[in-house]
Amino acid sequence: MKGHVARKRFGQNFLVDDGIISAIISAIDPQRGDTVVEIGPGLGAITEPLMARLDHLHVVEIDRDLIARLKKQHPPARMTIHEGDALAFDFASIGNDLRLVGNLPYNISTPLLFHLASYVGVVRDMHFMLQKEVVERMVAVPGESDFSRISVMLQYRFHLEWLIDVPPESFDPPPKVQSAVVRLIPKDVAELTAKNEAKLSQVVQTAFSQRRKMLRNTLKGTLSDEGFAELGILPTWRPEDVSVEDYVRIANYLT
Ligand code: SAM
Repeated sequence: MKGHVARKRFGQNFLVDDGIISAIISAIDPQRGDTVVEIGPGLGAITEPLMARLDHLHVVEIDRDLIARLKKQHPPARMTIHEGDALAFDFASIGNDLRLVGNLPYNISTPLLFHLASYVGVVRDMHFMLQKEVVERMVAVPGESDFSRISVMLQYRFHLEWLIDVPPESFDPPPKVQSAVVRLIPKDVAELTAKNEAKLSQVVQTAFSQRRKMLRNTLKGTLSDEGFAELGILPTWRPEDVSVEDYVRIANYLT
């Protein structure tokens, strides 16, 4: 692996499948002046083909050895390296109309997705490789067992599209799980109708805190009997039965 030992704690599984790499680049379709930010460039599997099509690339990387390699390979005029933890990185500091891409470290994918989702206002689109199971939860619809907090919070802000299935053999070392590439495109501001997003987040978190329980139990003390009746939401529903729109209506009722 180009003299680098993959670090498990940084979720390092390096893409080595040229067919998958070119499918990802085609899906992103980078244009010279785009502001592209790659999370976790690693050994450069996606980085190199991206740079061939871009004037400049921003990367966020935590592994010091990999950062040292990147610095040697790419002059600052072509690449800005943001050293550190993507979970704590302020993506808005780069600018707006950002195109975020990455084969994300699976060990932190859920908190990272929540962090990235908060930058919806400065993002044009996002293309991420993730554990297939996570993508299944992201795109799940109400009534499906995969429908969860991350489905609601991402679908509230983004249009999601499942793009490519990727088997373990496409990586070195191969992960123990299947992977998939997903695209997220921010919804129009007009579509984001929660009066208070913190309230929406709180309601969704509370409802899914015990996913087998009925809303009557989980939202007890949050939504009154009158509230349920007025919104036309049955207290016997479980969290996966409630649509994204209905979560927004509950949050707005409580705001
Ligand atoms: N992009 C490369 C590829 O496709 O072969 C590497 C992908 S590897 C799955 C994940 C990358 O994210 C590694 O380079 C790893 O060092 C980096 N990484 C892990 N945790 C990170 C974090 N918290 N912040 C920024 N980068 C991180």
